[in-house]
Amino acid sequence: MITKNEIKNAQRIVIKVGTSTLNHSTGHLNIHQIDLLVRQLSDLANQGKEILLVTSGAVGAGLDRMKKKQKPTSIPEKQALAAIGQGILMHIYEKLFSEYGQTVAQVLLTKENSVHYSQYINSRNALLSLLKMHTIPIINENDVVAIEQLKIGDNDTLSAIVAGLVDADLLILLTDIDGLYNKNPQTHADAALLKKVTEITPHIETIAGGAGTKFGTGGMFTKIQAAKIAMSSGVTMVIANGSRKNIINDVLSGEFCGTVFPAREAHLKQRKTWLAFGKNISGSITVDNGCEAALIKNGSSILAAGVIDFSGIFSAGNTVRVLSTDNREIARGIINYGANALTKILGHNTCEFSSLLAGKIYDEVIHRDNMVLMI
Ligand code: GLU
Repeated sequence: MITKNEIKNAQRIVIKVGTSTLNHSTGHLNIHQIDLLVRQLSDLANQGKEILLVTSGAVGAGLDRMKKKQKPTSIPEKQALAAIGQGILMHIYEKLFSEYGQTVAQVLLTKENSVHYSQYINSRNALLSLLKMHTIPIINENDVVAIEQLKIGDNDTLSAIVAGLVDADLLILLTDIDGLYNKNPQTHADAALLKKVTEITPHIETIAGGAGTKFGTGGMFTKIQAAKIAMSSGVTMVIANGSRKNIINDVLSGEFCGTVFPAREAHLKQRKTWLAFGKNISGSITVDNGCEAALIKNGSSILAAGVIDFSGIFSAGNTVRVLSTDNREIARGIINYGANALTKILGHNTCEFSSLLAGKIYDEVIHRDNMVLMI
């Protein structure tokens, strides 16, 4: 099977580890587990593989050190705990990785770093340089300075963005459950593990805890959102149980102990990956069936005649989702018209624009070069 070999041969690997894997249920660090993780990663680095670790646990470590049982609700306090915990986390990684002969580098990213293309490319170059120097970048969101509304918010998404950013071959999300199940395994004894998911359908989103369902467990929803990003960026993703011994080696040996999400064939170019996943989404437009078909079959630009509705407050140059009439996200792109102008030209032919609008006229609402298909 092609995916098995791809996984075995993966050279550049991003591993994401969650707080549930790093901590005991007491809230204290699970040093044994962290040591096992570091040993496996160091051994992979010794084999010549390029390793990037995306780690959570900063806030958790801060809570533990300050002897607090619950996350504070105030943002400055959360930021303070992240600042305390990030140092503790890095200290233990630095100590353990250096015992195994590895050099690590702390990289703290924010959403801002992906919103601006120049910063996006700078982050990529810095990470690639670190890999070239045979170091292991240890990445977290910069929780201390990231403004709540502008946060990536979860490290599943962050790890998928990082995997796309560095053109990784594989992304492994380590969590406290074996993978994605067809039902909630905590409440259904007959729940079965899905070994392979080739497409993120609405059904998959539902079983992962999408809107209106009760199946959501262990942050599976954000993992599925991460899978979307990874797959579209040409990165195969695996969800596996971080508490299983040698889990990373097992995944890499092709013994799937988890759920695999194979990369899509078409690998998005850097700029398109950034377009789709780096930028903030400001709104959405809904296109008719004819426009959808032209988009999917021919990669056509979107014209106002095919747009039937929109939502959100956006300006020209913002990124919007393109939805089908049944509300599926089919593309993302940079829109040439703000919401006010779009109201005036919705459903109209391009030749009518000059009588409807003042200012710069574009033939397309979204040009094909500024659009990425999401299906
Ligand atoms: N960045 C957060 C932390 O280190 C974790 C976010 C997440 O768990 O997804 O505490």
